[in-house]
Amino acid sequence: MTFVLPDLPYAIDALAPHLSADTLNFHYGKHHAGYVGKLNGMVEATDFEGKTLEDIMRATAGDMDAQGIFNNAAQIWNHTFYWYSMSPSGGGQPSGALFDKINEDFGSFDAFVDAFTAAGGAQFGSGWAWLVLRDGKLAVERTANADCPLTDGATPLLTMDVWEHAYYLDYQNRRPDYIETFLKHLVNWNFAADNYAAA
Ligand code: FE
Repeated sequence: MTFVLPDLPYAIDALAPHLSADTLNFHYGKHHAGYVGKLNGMVEATDFEGKTLEDIMRATAGDMDAQGIFNNAAQIWNHTFYWYSMSPSGGGQPSGALFDKINEDFGSFDAFVDAFTAAGGAQFGSGWAWLVLRDGKLAVERTANADCPLTDGATPLLTMDVWEHAYYLDYQNRRPDYIETFLKHLVNWNFAADNYAAA
């Protein structure tokens, strides 16, 4: 087995009541695990065996012949990044250098919240909202399906899954409520600050 499902950084029920154990059992235990199983089957006895997820993602992004490999590799990476983008003690605002940079590049923390909320809400169908560092500036971006900003030169700092499987059991069709909860109660600014410091 080349790839393994990474451990969650908290207990399966640690994000309740904002995201239930039921949601994480399916989202982590079925969807995330499923991408790992599929990718292992796809890369067996190919040049991709033994490569990192990032290497595979960069090598296959935009290649229609390798779409299945890209999708599964990127979904493993995106989901691991997503679990770390949340915390049982999340929410609030960042501090320090990241807070200053948000004020500098967005104008205010509230302006960042508005941009991130709009990105998550505007993504039609399945995808992701991101806070990234691109060309030295912070930006909010959204991607469709499995796409990830790291394959086109940005450094992801934070992500929010807006596939229906991320919120449907707890919020049904109310994606805006899920996004608001993510920003108020779940977002892990320490993780984003560490990523910013390392960028
Ligand atoms: Fe997901």
